[in-house]
Amino acid sequence: MNEPKAETGAPLPGPPNGLSPISGQAAPDEEQARTYHRAQRVLSVVGFVVDFALLMLLLLAGWSVGFREAAERVSRHPALALLIYLLLLGLLFKIPDLVIGFLKGYWLEHRHGLSRMTFGQWLLDEAKGAAIGAAIGALGAEALYAAIRLWPRDWWVVCAAAFSLFFILLAHLAPVLLFPIFFKFKPVEDSALVARLEDLSRRARTRVRGVYEWKLGEKTKKANAALMGSGSTRRIILSDTLLSNFQPDEIEAVLAHEFGHHVRRHLLWGMLVQTAITFAGFYLANRALARWSHAFGLRGPSDFANLPLLILTGFALSLILLPALSAFSRRMEREADAYALGSIPDREAFIRSMEKLAQLNLGERRPPRWIEFIFHSHPSIERRIQFAREWNPARRRTSQAGA
Ligand SMILES: [Zn+2]
Repeated sequence: MNEPKAETGAPLPGPPNGLSPISGQAAPDEEQARTYHRAQRVLSVVGFVVDFALLMLLLLAGWSVGFREAAERVSRHPALALLIYLLLLGLLFKIPDLVIGFLKGYWLEHRHGLSRMTFGQWLLDEAKGAAIGAAIGALGAEALYAAIRLWPRDWWVVCAAAFSLFFILLAHLAPVLLFPIFFKFKPVEDSALVARLEDLSRRARTRVRGVYEWKLGEKTKKANAALMGSGSTRRIILSDTLLSNFQPDEIEAVLAHEFGHHVRRHLLWGMLVQTAITFAGFYLANRALARWSHAFGLRGPSDFANLPLLILTGFALSLILLPALSAFSRRMEREADAYALGSIPDREAFIRSMEKLAQLNLGERRPPRWIEFIFHSHPSIERRIQFAREWNPARRRTSQAGA
C-alpha cells in the first residue's frame, strides 16, 4: 500500500542482467540489481510461508477457535464479536508483517540507495496502509459473514458479485481517494509536454482529465508513470523522478505504452478476469465450508473462526493461477509495447526509456527464465528492448488501423 504499483512502461521493481547498452561491457549495476531482486524474492517467499504457517496454526492448533471464544467473552453480538476477532487476528499477522515489511520496504531499499524515506516517514506510511487495510478488511469480513448468515446457500454468489463491484469501484476511486493519502500531486506545468501527451491521448481516442506531477522523489529514486482511473477520474500521473530524468520523447514513449493498454481494452479484460477469479474463489470457499466447516472445532459456515480456512482457499487458488495470470499480463504488456512502438515517431526513444527505467529502478534486465515465467507481470527489460529492435515499422499502419 505504501508504494502503489502503478502501471509503467516497465515493471516497477522489475527486471537487469547483462550488458550495458552503451559499451557492451557488463553493467556495474547488474550484480547489484540481481542481489536486490533475489533479496526481494526471498523476503516475499518468507512472508508467504510465515502467513501460510500462521493460517495453518490458527486452524489446526485451535488458535482461531480460541480467538473467537475470547471475542465472544467480550460481546455475543456476531458483528461486534467478529470485529474483536479480526483485531486479534490482525495483531497476530501484523508482527511478522512489520518485520518483513521493514526489511523489504525500508532496509533493502536503503541498502541499494533507492529509498529516500526516513524511518519515521516509512512508519507513517505503514500506519496509513495498515489503517486502510484494516478498514477495508473489516468491512469485507463483516459483509461476508452477514451474507453467510442471511443466505446460507447462495451467499457466495452474492459476495462474488458485491466484491467484484467493489474492486471496480476501487479502481475508479483510487486515484482521487487512496493515492493522495500517500503522495502529493500537482498539475504538470510544462505546457509543451502536456500538449504532447494530450495529442497522444487523442490518437488513442481517450480523454484524460489532467496531467499531474507525482511527488515520488521525496520517497524514492525510482521513476514511474501511469494512466489511472476511469471516466471523470482518468488522469496521467508522471513521477517527478521521471520528469527530471527523461526527455520529452522518452516520457511520450512511456505514456504511449499506457495508452496501448487503453486501446487494447486491457482494463476491461483485467476486470473480467478479476471478476471470474472472484467468482471462482467464492465458489471454492463455499465448497471448503461445505467440507470442513465442522472440523477443527468450528461451529459451521457462519462461524467466523473459519476465516483462516477461507483465506487458505484463496491462497491455494492464487498459487495455482499465478503462472497463468503472469503469462496473461505479459501478453498484454507486449501488446501495449507494440501499440507504443506504432504510435511514437522513433523506437529509439522507447528503448532509451526502457534503459533509464532499468537504471533508475534497479530493474533486473534478464531474470532467471523460470522466475519470469511464474512471477513477472512484464516481459524482462531485455526482451522488451529486443522486441523494440525487431519491431517492423511497416506494421505501424495496421496497428493504428486496428486501434
Ligand atoms: Zn504496461
